[in-house]
Amino acid sequence: MSYIQFRQSCSDCGEEWNAAFGIVGTTIIAQPPEKCPKCGLKNINKIADGWEWEKSGEGMKITKQDVFRADMRDAGFDPENYVGKNFYRGLAVTVDRGKLQDVIRATKLELQWDSLGKNDLVIYPAGGGS
Ligand SMILES: [Zn+2]
Repeated sequence: MSYIQFRQSCSDCGEEWNAAFGIVGTTIIAQPPEKCPKCGLKNINKIADGWEWEKSGEGMKITKQDVFRADMRDAGFDPENYVGKNFYRGLAVTVDRGKLQDVIRATKLELQWDSLGKNDLVIYPAGGGS
């Protein structure tokens, strides 16, 4: 299980608070609040901290990039921005070829990878950067 922690703020009253997603694989098991805990309105902003987000109706939806980042960090890898083949633009981990199975085991996301030289692979979520 992974947690993604971040801060939210309210457009209406200015309140700020900490929130988190809990995820198992790609399934969200805990959601951040969709209403301001102070005034109860729904104009919630996520405070920019480098996470990738998509707006989804009134709430927010976790992206493959969020899941990949959390899973890789949990497994001790260090995801970095990558612009690669297949028009991919997003997070990737660069590892020795021998670690491929470790990366695959660390996430339920479908992955793809590019060769970098003789021994290294750049591994990232399949199907684009979001
Ligand atoms: Zn508020």
